[in-house]
Amino acid sequence: MAEVDVLVIGGGMVGMSLSVALADAGIKTAVVERHAPGKDLDQDFDGRTCSLAHASAMIFEGLGVWPFLAADAGPIYDIRVVDGNFKDGISSLFLHYNHEDVGDDPFGYIVENRVIRSGLAQRAAALKPLKVYAPAAVEELVHDSHGVEAKLNDGKTIKARLAVAAEGKFSPTRDNAGISTRQYDYKQTAIVCSVGHQEPHDGVAVELFLPSGPFAMLPMTGNRMNLVWTETTELAQNYLSLDDGPFLQEVKKRFGDWLGDLELLGPRFSYPLSLQTSNAYTDTRLALIGDAAHVIHPIAGQGLNLGLRDVAVLAEVIVDAHRLGLDVGSGTVLENYENWRRPDVFAMATVTHSLNKLFSNDIAPLRLARDLGLAAVDKAGPLKRLFMRHAMGVVGNLPRLVAGDPL
Ligand SMILES: Cc1cc2nc3c(=O)[nH]c(=O)nc-3n(C[C@H](O)[C@H](O)[C@H](O)COP(=O)(O)OP(=O)(O)OC[C@H]3O[C@@H](n4cnc5c(N)ncnc54)[C@H](O)[C@@H]3O)c2cc1C
Repeated sequence: MAEVDVLVIGGGMVGMSLSVALADAGIKTAVVERHAPGKDLDQDFDGRTCSLAHASAMIFEGLGVWPFLAADAGPIYDIRVVDGNFKDGISSLFLHYNHEDVGDDPFGYIVENRVIRSGLAQRAAALKPLKVYAPAAVEELVHDSHGVEAKLNDGKTIKARLAVAAEGKFSPTRDNAGISTRQYDYKQTAIVCSVGHQEPHDGVAVELFLPSGPFAMLPMTGNRMNLVWTETTELAQNYLSLDDGPFLQEVKKRFGDWLGDLELLGPRFSYPLSLQTSNAYTDTRLALIGDAAHVIHPIAGQGLNLGLRDVAVLAEVIVDAHRLGLDVGSGTVLENYENWRRPDVFAMATVTHSLNKLFSNDIAPLRLARDLGLAAVDKAGPLKRLFMRHAMGVVGNLPRLVAGDPL
């Protein structure tokens, strides 16, 4: 039987980030992940990139993970938001964010999920207080006022003071604890693929709003862009069933020729989109983090960023309790975590949901209003700067890791 302070269930990007943060602060941590080590690094496991906001880069820096990502992180220097449709073309009214308007740092970085997972695994391997159980699953979990006890499918038992569910959208630990969720099906699917192009992108990210959903072009390292192409689910299935040639033609219709000729790099992936928020983020000796707590539309590339801010806050309240010799799974620790995280999650879920509703249609008066809105925000300096700082994740009561202080 193993005895630790914190048991993390789910070793994805969010669960591993928390495990690294805790172990780095000397807290004994176990993480249970159902996939075998390295499986999530396969080329066909996940074709996504994440746009890591400035705050997330700070968190990874603080955790000692950034050195493993830096060489593969494409900086975002400019963001262009454009409205368009195939009939009228691209609107001349658009919003342009330049990183120099808020400082010297890039807005953030585009990093492949595979690279993030690999960086976390390498950092985790160097931390003595962290033990990874993989492939493994929790078969039975008790979390009550006395403590946490987990029985794994290989017969092992782990005892802890706190359990953390980081199992993503379909978290069984959340459901077994009786924590309900609110859901909204967007009836949209994101098609994800990467393209190579002739001309350099100069760190420009483009979000093109088309009637069935946004088409995002995200600058990776080199002459590569990752595309997140949102369509109604029915249309997405049609595009996904095309052979590479016709599929690339459809991509080109949306991408345009601003970077020269395009080629497809690697396979395509698809993800059905929904909004899902948990009605509570905690239960007795249990905390939810990342997609287990909240899933949002990828329209602004903020889901992982939100999860990493959960990590920064939960790690801070746990570490503070541990340093004072207090119980890391107490109601006070969990209450502090939940109260600190709710406003940020609520704001981001509301903004991404509203943006998708406002832009994913082709109703003429609405289109004019939103184009005028984009142009007005573009001219309104303070409002534009506030939006930029929100996207960078540096607004509100910042945890130490985001502020650049040690945990
Ligand atoms: C198309 C698309 C584009 C996106 N782009 C961005 C972006 O640009 N920027 C951004 O910030 N976010 C983005 N996101 C969101 C981001 O991908 C997610 O928020 C993030 O992956 C959530 O990480 P997680 O670790 O919480 O969950 P997951 O990635 O779902 O990981 C959960 C882990 O738990 C494991 N697990 C599950 N059940 C069990 C179990 N019972 N026992 C043990 N292990 C288990 C799984 O194997 C997995 O490793 C995007 C999402 C989509 C769909």
